[in-house]
Amino acid sequence: MKKISHESKTNNNPFIIPVFIMNSGCPHRCIFCNQEITAGNFPQKITKDFFDTYINSHLAWNKDKSKKKEIAFYGGSFTGIDPLYQEDLLSWAYSFIQKGIVNSLRISTRPDYISAANVSLLKKYNVTTVEIGAQSFVDEVLFSAQRGHNADSIIKALTILKNNGFQTGLHLMAGLPKDTKEGFIYSLDKTIELKPDTVRIHPVVVLSGTALAKEFRRGEYKPLELSEAVELCRMAWEKLSMAGIRIIRMGLHLTPEMIKDGSVLAGPIHPALGNLVLSSVFYNHTIKFLEKVAPDTEELSFVVSNRDTSSFRGLNNANISAIKTLYPHANLIVKSLTGQPRGKISLTIKSGKSFNLNIPGII
Ligand code: SF4
Repeated sequence: MKKISHESKTNNNPFIIPVFIMNSGCPHRCIFCNQEITAGNFPQKITKDFFDTYINSHLAWNKDKSKKKEIAFYGGSFTGIDPLYQEDLLSWAYSFIQKGIVNSLRISTRPDYISAANVSLLKKYNVTTVEIGAQSFVDEVLFSAQRGHNADSIIKALTILKNNGFQTGLHLMAGLPKDTKEGFIYSLDKTIELKPDTVRIHPVVVLSGTALAKEFRRGEYKPLELSEAVELCRMAWEKLSMAGIRIIRMGLHLTPEMIKDGSVLAGPIHPALGNLVLSSVFYNHTIKFLEKVAPDTEELSFVVSNRDTSSFRGLNNANISAIKTLYPHANLIVKSLTGQPRGKISLTIKSGKSFNLNIPGII
């Protein structure tokens, strides 16, 4: 059975065991979606034997026993599937909670499949988090992506979920057909108004076997360049973290299916998109911070947390090279300290003058 790399990066995040339901419950296929590529090799219908073996193998594989454990149903519209099958899946997952082996459950679904009636089943089985595939708040963009719902549905779904005490997550996409930078910013602003607990941002990639692939082949769709995707995600990261909303994922997790020849036709795919975005966040803040420092300064001595060093330096030291170009006479020193708080950059220049900067939202 294949192992999937988990999203957890810090001790605060649970160890998530993702179970993909392979488009179950979806009324049709959105133009960008191909779960066989993004989710991988899961059966169309999950049996109890498969479920128990899969969960137990992941639990055995988890070495960090201090983390809380969560079973997450992804890859379809959970609340749209046959209620009996829904209840099977929830009860199998809940039995791991009853045995004290797993701490919580999470599902993802479409916004128009959330109602006061169907959340009661989720409550019955102690589902704590519901993630909603919003993708955009621009109706024209939702229509072009053949989502089959409008922005109002997202607002209604989030309201119902919050009123019922669920933790909420929202998925947004950057680079959908008919979307623009302004449209994406509008979606971010609407997200901030709704204040979900977490957000995932996926720049659109063109997957084979999708309607988007046909549009792309006909020359009707042009995906974002990687640099454009990083810039939109950087903007999203800055806006959302300033609003106290955590981004828990940027970019698709690369499955073995995704790296097979012919699976991804085009688009800003990168194995470490999140790192590129964070490097961009660090660079953007550092550059503004350096506005206080004369270009002929002879020494720039930075202190960052050891956990921020790679973000501060950038991929292949790209940020360091860019700072060196701006300060060609400076001896540039970067010290990584375990005691330095995350997101804090301290700078001392040759005169002994020092400056501090805190980037919000780095945890
Ligand atoms: S609703 Fe979600 S899982 Fe279903 S087809 Fe659309 S994007 Fe894919």
